[in-house]
Amino acid sequence: MSGDRTDSVSVRAPAKINLDLSVGALGDDGFHPVSTVYHAVSVFDDVTVTPTGGGLELEVTGEHTDGVPLTPDNLVLRAAQLVARRGGVQAGARILLHKGIPVAAGMAGGSADAAAALVACDAAWRTGLDRAELLELAAQLGADVAFALVGGTAIGAGRGEQITPALARGQYHWVLALSEDGLSTPAVYAEFDRLTAGRALAEPRVGDEVMQALRSGDCVALGKALRNDLQPAAFSLRPDLSDLLEVGLEYGALGGVVSGSGPTLAFLVRDHEHALDLSVALTASGACEVVKRAHGPVHGARVGDLPRLT
Ligand code: ATP
Repeated sequence: MSGDRTDSVSVRAPAKINLDLSVGALGDDGFHPVSTVYHAVSVFDDVTVTPTGGGLELEVTGEHTDGVPLTPDNLVLRAAQLVARRGGVQAGARILLHKGIPVAAGMAGGSADAAAALVACDAAWRTGLDRAELLELAAQLGADVAFALVGGTAIGAGRGEQITPALARGQYHWVLALSEDGLSTPAVYAEFDRLTAGRALAEPRVGDEVMQALRSGDCVALGKALRNDLQPAAFSLRPDLSDLLEVGLEYGALGGVVSGSGPTLAFLVRDHEHALDLSVALTASGACEVVKRAHGPVHGARVGDLPRLT
């Protein structure tokens, strides 16, 4: 059987930024416990799955394809394999991954792809996995995958995979300052370990200020409360990011923070107009080459319209 378009399922999954990222000491398991506030923003990847007679084929298109592996360790293929194993699926799939999320940017693009692939394969192969099963498979694929399934604004504990929705009000507008070169997450954590060596780190805990700002939907308070324990490590590896943060704040952002392990800087602004002003100012200043405007929170991975064939 070779799948046709009527069998295809397309799923869209969002990028995330971290409004707060509190990092604890390296555990015996080799991981840092975190407590974080995830926020899904309107930058998306799309995964389209068409069932076939057997085997998995992957094609990657879109704005951001450099650095995306086409090997079996691509998170899309790993996710498809987990669904096939769990569902006892004999069929294969042709998978198209369309990337709008920058790679190695601290925006969990690979995790969004994994979440989208879990949902798309489950629907295309009719394996009927329930929410709990999808979340369990997500946790096997990476710390941020569960959040990409859920979306919205949520607290992540453990390695980030234990998700509880946050009480949050309002829509927020962001200007994302992107870097040409990515930062490796393990390298940023290694730098964090170096910078914090010999210091006793507290249990990770999200700040009361950020939760209070979200509860009241107060963007000015949220701007002040943005925080990331990995930021000094990201700045140590990329001092230009520290300058860029200063520039964004000077140009009137309500706040700014490195997203995850960076190098993306997320600037909070008041509204769409403010986002346009800051984007123009940042690019004109020469401090940053590429900016993206986004809003959040947005939904997690869900079945959407098929992309138009061109
Ligand atoms: P992390 O999720 O590790 O914090 P990140 O959000 O900064 O990382 P990603 O875009 O997820 O960045 O990419 C991290 C790495 O994951 C890439 O450099 C790439 O080698 C690998 N990877 C595996 N599958 C994918 C995928 N589908 N898309 C992008 N990268 C992938």
